[in-house]
Amino acid sequence: MIRENLQEVKATLKPEVKLVAVSKFHPVEALQEAYDAGQRVFGESHVQELVAKEEVLPKDIEWHFIGHLQTNKVKYMASFVSLIHAVDSLKLLKEIDKQAQKCGRTIDVLLQIHVAKEETKFGFTPEEVKDMLAEKSWKECQHVRIVGLMAMATNTDNENQIAQEFDMVQQLFEEVKKDFFASEPSFKELSMGMSGDYLIAQKHGSTMVRVGSLIFGMRNYEVKR
Ligand SMILES: *Cc1c(COP(=O)(O)O)cnc(C)c1O
Repeated sequence: MIRENLQEVKATLKPEVKLVAVSKFHPVEALQEAYDAGQRVFGESHVQELVAKEEVLPKDIEWHFIGHLQTNKVKYMASFVSLIHAVDSLKLLKEIDKQAQKCGRTIDVLLQIHVAKEETKFGFTPEEVKDMLAEKSWKECQHVRIVGLMAMATNTDNENQIAQEFDMVQQLFEEVKKDFFASEPSFKELSMGMSGDYLIAQKHGSTMVRVGSLIFGMRNYEVKR
Protein backbone atom coordinates (compact mmCIF):
# COMPACT_ATOMS: atom_id res chain seq x y z
CA MET A 1 0.00 0.00 0.00
CA ILE A 2 2.61 2.53 1.11
CA ARG A 3 4.75 1.77 -1.93
CA GLU A 4 1.79 2.33 -4.27
CA ASN A 5 0.73 5.49 -2.45
CA LEU A 6 4.24 6.88 -2.74
CA GLN A 7 4.32 6.14 -6.43
CA GLU A 8 0.97 7.82 -6.96
CA VAL A 9 1.97 10.97 -5.13
CA LYS A 10 5.35 11.11 -6.88
CA ALA A 11 3.68 10.75 -10.27
CA THR A 12 1.87 14.04 -9.65
CA LEU A 13 4.97 15.96 -8.59
CA LYS A 14 7.28 17.96 -10.79
CA PRO A 15 10.70 16.27 -10.73
CA GLU A 16 12.28 19.25 -8.96
CA VAL A 17 9.79 19.21 -6.07
CA LYS A 18 11.02 17.32 -3.02
CA LEU A 19 8.62 14.95 -1.30
CA VAL A 20 8.83 14.97 2.49
CA ALA A 21 7.00 11.87 3.72
CA VAL A 22 5.29 12.98 6.93
CA SER A 23 5.41 9.92 9.16
CA LYS A 24 4.32 11.31 12.53
CA PHE A 25 2.26 8.90 14.63
CA HIS A 26 3.07 6.01 12.30
CA PRO A 27 5.14 3.07 13.54
CA VAL A 28 8.71 2.45 12.36
CA GLU A 29 7.47 -0.46 10.26
CA ALA A 30 5.54 1.98 8.09
CA LEU A 31 8.62 4.16 7.65
CA GLN A 32 10.73 1.11 6.84
CA GLU A 33 8.23 0.18 4.16
CA ALA A 34 8.49 3.62 2.61
CA TYR A 35 12.28 3.42 2.91
CA ASP A 36 12.30 0.06 1.13
CA ALA A 37 10.28 1.69 -1.64
CA GLY A 38 13.05 4.26 -2.05
CA GLN A 39 11.86 7.14 0.13
CA ARG A 40 14.71 8.84 2.02
CA VAL A 41 13.20 12.10 3.31
CA PHE A 42 10.90 11.89 6.32
CA GLY A 43 9.13 14.59 8.32
CA GLU A 44 8.25 14.35 12.00
CA SER A 45 6.63 16.87 14.29
CA HIS A 46 7.31 15.55 17.79
CA VAL A 47 10.83 15.54 19.16
CA GLN A 48 10.71 12.36 21.22
CA GLU A 49 9.17 10.44 18.37
CA LEU A 50 11.74 11.77 15.91
CA VAL A 51 14.62 10.79 18.20
CA ALA A 52 13.24 7.30 18.82
CA LYS A 53 12.76 6.64 15.10
CA GLU A 54 16.15 8.02 14.13
CA GLU A 55 17.80 5.60 16.52
CA VAL A 56 16.39 2.48 14.92
CA LEU A 57 16.01 3.37 11.23
CA PRO A 58 18.72 3.47 8.52
CA LYS A 59 21.30 6.20 8.84
CA ASP A 60 20.96 7.58 5.35
CA ILE A 61 17.49 8.97 6.08
CA GLU A 62 17.18 12.73 5.79
CA TRP A 63 15.13 13.80 8.82
CA HIS A 64 13.07 16.96 8.65
CA PHE A 65 11.45 18.47 11.72
CA ILE A 66 8.20 20.05 10.56
CA GLY A 67 6.32 20.82 13.78
CA HIS A 68 6.32 23.63 16.27
CA LEU A 69 9.66 23.44 18.07
CA GLN A 70 10.29 24.49 21.66
CA THR A 71 13.73 25.93 22.32
CA ASN A 72 14.47 23.48 25.13
CA LYS A 73 14.10 20.54 22.74
CA VAL A 74 16.46 21.61 19.97
CA LYS A 75 19.36 19.84 21.65
CA TYR A 76 17.88 16.39 21.16
CA MET A 77 17.91 16.60 17.37
CA ALA A 78 20.80 18.99 16.71
CA SER A 79 23.28 16.24 15.87
CA PHE A 80 21.31 14.71 13.03
CA VAL A 81 18.37 16.81 11.79
CA SER A 82 18.67 17.86 8.13
CA LEU A 83 16.14 20.65 7.99
CA ILE A 84 13.98 22.42 10.56
CA HIS A 85 10.91 23.73 8.73
CA ALA A 86 9.11 25.91 11.22
CA VAL A 87 11.39 28.47 12.83
CA ASP A 88 9.05 31.10 14.17
CA SER A 89 11.21 33.31 16.39
CA LEU A 90 14.67 34.81 16.61
CA LYS A 91 15.02 33.12 19.99
CA LEU A 92 14.55 29.69 18.41
CA LEU A 93 16.96 30.54 15.60
CA LYS A 94 19.60 31.48 18.20
CA GLU A 95 19.07 28.26 20.13
CA ILE A 96 19.44 26.18 16.97
CA ASP A 97 22.65 28.08 16.25
CA LYS A 98 23.97 27.34 19.74
CA GLN A 99 23.17 23.63 19.58
CA ALA A 100 24.51 23.28 16.04
CA GLN A 101 27.76 24.87 17.11
CA LYS A 102 28.05 22.39 19.99
CA CYS A 103 27.71 19.59 17.43
CA GLY A 104 30.21 21.22 15.11
CA ARG A 105 27.75 21.56 12.26
CA THR A 106 25.47 23.97 10.46
CA ILE A 107 21.73 23.32 10.47
CA ASP A 108 19.50 24.37 7.58
CA VAL A 109 16.22 26.01 8.55
CA LEU A 110 13.13 27.59 7.04
CA LEU A 111 11.28 30.54 8.49
CA GLN A 112 7.61 29.81 9.05
CA ILE A 113 5.21 32.39 7.68
CA HIS A 114 1.79 32.82 9.21
CA VAL A 115 -0.81 33.28 6.48
CA ALA A 116 -3.68 31.02 7.50
CA LYS A 117 -6.79 32.63 8.90
CA GLU A 118 -6.50 30.48 12.00
CA GLU A 119 -5.14 31.52 15.35
CA THR A 120 -3.62 28.13 16.01
CA LYS A 121 -0.96 28.40 13.30
CA PHE A 122 2.44 29.60 14.37
CA GLY A 123 4.84 31.73 12.38
CA PHE A 124 6.01 35.23 11.51
CA THR A 125 3.64 37.58 9.75
CA PRO A 126 5.15 38.98 6.52
CA GLU A 127 5.95 42.23 8.37
CA GLU A 128 7.54 40.44 11.30
CA VAL A 129 9.82 38.35 9.11
CA LYS A 130 11.01 41.39 7.18
CA ASP A 131 11.62 43.30 10.42
CA MET A 132 13.55 40.39 11.88
CA LEU A 133 15.74 40.06 8.80
CA ALA A 134 16.31 43.81 8.56
CA GLU A 135 17.43 43.90 12.17
CA LYS A 136 20.50 41.80 11.29
CA SER A 137 21.26 40.15 14.64
CA TRP A 138 20.29 36.85 12.98
CA LYS A 139 23.49 37.16 10.96
CA GLU A 140 25.47 36.37 14.09
CA CYS A 141 24.05 32.87 13.88
CA GLN A 142 26.94 31.31 11.99
CA HIS A 143 25.75 27.76 12.49
CA VAL A 144 22.32 28.07 10.96
CA ARG A 145 21.61 28.62 7.32
CA ILE A 146 18.23 30.06 6.38
CA VAL A 147 17.39 28.28 3.13
CA GLY A 148 13.83 29.47 2.58
CA LEU A 149 10.29 29.83 3.89
CA MET A 150 7.58 27.46 5.06
CA ALA A 151 3.85 28.01 5.33
CA MET A 152 0.58 26.23 5.98
CA ALA A 153 -2.61 27.37 4.29
CA THR A 154 -5.92 27.64 6.08
CA ASN A 155 -7.62 24.29 6.57
CA THR A 156 -10.53 24.90 4.20
CA ASP A 157 -12.22 23.48 1.11
CA ASN A 158 -12.03 26.89 -0.52
CA GLU A 159 -9.31 26.33 -3.12
CA ASN A 160 -9.28 29.98 -4.14
CA GLN A 161 -8.41 31.00 -0.63
CA ILE A 162 -5.67 28.37 -0.40
CA ALA A 163 -4.25 29.48 -3.75
CA GLN A 164 -4.33 33.09 -2.63
CA GLU A 165 -2.45 32.29 0.56
CA PHE A 166 0.22 30.26 -1.23
CA ASP A 167 0.54 33.01 -3.82
CA MET A 168 1.12 35.55 -1.08
CA VAL A 169 3.88 33.41 0.43
CA GLN A 170 5.46 32.93 -2.99
CA GLN A 171 5.55 36.70 -3.50
CA LEU A 172 6.98 37.21 -0.02
CA PHE A 173 9.61 34.56 -0.79
CA GLU A 174 10.71 36.44 -3.92
CA GLU A 175 10.81 39.72 -2.03
CA VAL A 176 12.79 38.32 0.90
CA LYS A 177 15.18 36.58 -1.48
CA LYS A 178 15.82 39.80 -3.37
CA ASP A 179 16.17 41.99 -0.28
CA PHE A 180 18.11 39.74 2.08
CA PHE A 181 19.52 36.69 0.29
CA ALA A 182 20.39 37.99 -3.18
CA SER A 183 23.95 36.69 -2.88
CA GLU A 184 22.96 33.34 -1.40
CA PRO A 185 21.85 30.72 -3.91
CA SER A 186 21.10 28.36 -1.01
CA PHE A 187 18.03 30.46 -0.20
CA LYS A 188 15.76 28.60 -2.61
CA GLU A 189 13.28 26.45 -0.71
CA LEU A 190 9.59 27.03 -0.29
CA SER A 191 7.94 24.37 1.87
CA MET A 192 4.22 24.48 1.14
CA GLY A 193 1.55 21.87 0.64
CA MET A 194 0.13 18.88 2.55
CA SER A 195 -2.05 15.97 1.44
CA GLY A 196 -5.07 18.15 0.81
CA ASP A 197 -3.42 21.07 -0.95
CA TYR A 198 -0.01 20.08 -2.30
CA LEU A 199 -1.08 20.29 -5.93
CA ILE A 200 -2.18 23.88 -5.41
CA ALA A 201 1.08 24.59 -3.58
CA GLN A 202 3.08 23.12 -6.44
CA LYS A 203 1.40 25.57 -8.82
CA HIS A 204 2.51 28.41 -6.59
CA GLY A 205 6.21 27.73 -6.45
CA SER A 206 6.50 25.12 -3.72
CA THR A 207 9.83 23.26 -3.86
CA MET A 208 9.01 20.90 -1.00
CA VAL A 209 5.70 19.29 -0.14
CA ARG A 210 4.95 17.67 3.23
CA VAL A 211 2.61 14.78 2.56
CA GLY A 212 1.46 12.40 5.30
CA SER A 213 -1.96 10.78 5.12
CA LEU A 214 -1.91 10.25 1.35
CA ILE A 215 1.15 8.04 1.84
CA PHE A 216 0.63 6.43 5.24
CA GLY A 217 -3.13 6.60 5.66
CA MET A 218 -4.92 7.94 8.69
CA ARG A 219 -2.86 8.66 11.76
CA ASN A 220 -3.65 6.61 14.84
CA TYR A 221 -4.65 9.56 16.95
CA GLU A 222 -7.15 10.54 14.28
CA VAL A 223 -8.63 7.04 14.16
CA LYS A 224 -9.05 7.05 17.93
CA ARG A 225 -10.85 10.40 18.06
C1 LIG B 1 0.97 16.59 9.83
C2 LIG B 1 1.59 17.65 9.01
C3 LIG B 1 1.65 17.55 7.60
C4 LIG B 1 1.06 16.39 6.81
O1 LIG B 1 -0.32 16.43 6.83
P1 LIG B 1 -1.19 15.47 5.88
O2 LIG B 1 -2.47 16.18 5.76
O3 LIG B 1 -1.30 14.17 6.59
O4 LIG B 1 -0.48 15.35 4.59
C5 LIG B 1 2.30 18.57 6.91
N1 LIG B 1 2.85 19.62 7.54
C6 LIG B 1 2.81 19.75 8.88
C7 LIG B 1 3.44 20.94 9.49
C8 LIG B 1 2.18 18.78 9.64
O5 LIG B 1 2.14 18.94 10.99
